[in-house]
Amino acid sequence: MNFFETDSLIETACGMDIPDIFSKYGEPHFRELEREVIRGLPESDCVVSTGGGAVLDDENAKNLRRNSYVVFLDIDSETSYERITGSARPALTNYTPEDEVRLLIRERFPQYARTADICVDAAGFPDDICDEITDRLFHNVKTNESGLNPVFEVFSDVIMPEGKKEELFSFVKKNPAGHICAIAGNPCTHSRSPHLYNTLFERYGICAHYTYLGKNSAEETAGAFRKANLRGISVTIPYKEDILPFTDRKGRHVKALGAANTVVNCCGYLLACNTDWVGVLRPLEEAGVNPKRAVILGAGGAARGAVYALKNTGAEIYILNRTEERAKNLALETNCKYGSPGMLESINPDLIINATSVGMKGTDTPVADKNILKPGMTVFDLVYTPPDTRLLKEAKEAGCLCISGEEMFIHQAAEQFFRMFGIRILASEIREIIK
Ligand code: NAP
Repeated sequence: MNFFETDSLIETACGMDIPDIFSKYGEPHFRELEREVIRGLPESDCVVSTGGGAVLDDENAKNLRRNSYVVFLDIDSETSYERITGSARPALTNYTPEDEVRLLIRERFPQYARTADICVDAAGFPDDICDEITDRLFHNVKTNESGLNPVFEVFSDVIMPEGKKEELFSFVKKNPAGHICAIAGNPCTHSRSPHLYNTLFERYGICAHYTYLGKNSAEETAGAFRKANLRGISVTIPYKEDILPFTDRKGRHVKALGAANTVVNCCGYLLACNTDWVGVLRPLEEAGVNPKRAVILGAGGAARGAVYALKNTGAEIYILNRTEERAKNLALETNCKYGSPGMLESINPDLIINATSVGMKGTDTPVADKNILKPGMTVFDLVYTPPDTRLLKEAKEAGCLCISGEEMFIHQAAEQFFRMFGIRILASEIREIIK
C-alpha cells in the first residue's frame, strides 16, 4: 500500500518545514493546510500517518474515518516526551515541553478513543505494533476458542424485528473487524435508533452495524457488551440506572445524574455517558429560549435530565408531579421548588417541560386546563410518540412556542453519535433521516 505522512505532505505543499510554518503563520494556518492535505488523500488502499492534532478537527475526523480504519497509537506521556525530545516539533502551549505533552495527551485522549477503530499500546517496538494492528484487522478478529465470532452467540436469543438478525449476522460475516452497536433495553424493538445509525454509517463510510440488544437484565446487557466486544450501546428503559455498576468508568454527567443512556467501548473499558440532558438543553438553545420561570411536569428520569439541563440557565425551576413526594425528593436534591400539577396556573411559567409519560395515548394531556397555555410561553413535550401530542396541539393553538419530543431524541442522538465515533452530526441531518 502507499504510505502518506501528512506532515511531510504539508511541508512539500508549501515548501517550508513545520517549525517555520508555525513560527511564520501560526497554528491556525498549519491546521488549514493539514485539512487541505487530508481532504486530498485517497479514500482507500493506503496507510496514512497523522500528527495527534489532526483528528481533533471534525472535518478531518470525517475524512480520515471514511471507508478506513483509524488506529490510535496509545502511549504514556513519559514515553511520548522521551521520543520527541530533540525533535524540532513546535510548542503548542506556553507550558514546559514535559507538561505540554502530559496535558495534551490527557485533554485529547477522549477524542482519540472516539475516533479510533483500534487502540494499540504504542510503547513497544514498531514491528510488534504493526503485528498487533494487522492481527486485529485481519486475523484474530473477535473470535473465541472455537473460532466463532461471539457476536453470533450473544445475539442468537435476542428478539428482533423480522429480518434484522439475518442482517446483523450477514454484516458480521462480511466485516469481521466491523463495529457492532445496539439499542439496549427491554423492550427495545420499537426503537428508531437502528435506522438512524445505520443510515449514518453508510453516509460517513463507517464499517459498523447497529442492532437490537433486548436482554433480561442490565448485568446480562453489560456481559453481552463485553463478550461481543461491542462499540457502544444506547441504553433505554429500564436499564439507565441499573447498568452503572457494570461499567468501568462514569462520565461526570453520569455521576451527577445517576443514570446513563450511552455506554461506549473506550479503548477497552466501558465508559458510561449521559446525553439525554443535552437533548433537553440544545433544542431550547436553538430556539433562543431563555427561561425565567420553568415548570417541569414529572419527577422520573426524564425530569431529572431536564432539571440538570436547566440548572445553568439561571431559571427558577419548579418540579410538579402527581406523586408530590417524588417531586419533593428531586427538588431537595437539586435545589428546586416543588409541588403538585395543580399549581401550574399560579406559577405562571414562561417554560413548561412535560417529562411525564402522559400524552403517549394521543388523547391525554398533562395540562388539564388548556386556558393555562398562553402566547409567550414555550412548551417542550418530551413525549415523542406521537410527535404531535395533544399538549403540543393545544399549545400551538394558544400561540405558544412549541418544541416536540423528537427534538430531544435528535439532539441526544447527535451527542451520542459523537461519543461513539468522534464525528459531529448536524441536528438537521438527523431530522431529515428520521422524518
Ligand atoms: P419515569 O421515570 O417512569 O417517570 C414517569 C413520570 O410520569 C413520573 O413523574 C410519573 O409520575 C409521571 N406519570 C406517569 N403516568 C402519569 C399519569 N397518568 N398522570 C400523571 N403523571 C404520570 O419515565 P421517564 O423515563 O422519566 O420518561 C418520561 C417521559 O419522557 C416518557 O414519555 C418518555 O418517552 C419521555 N422521554 C423522551 C425522550 C426523548 O428522547 N424524547 C427521552 C427520555 C424520555 P409518578 O411519580 O406520580 O408516577
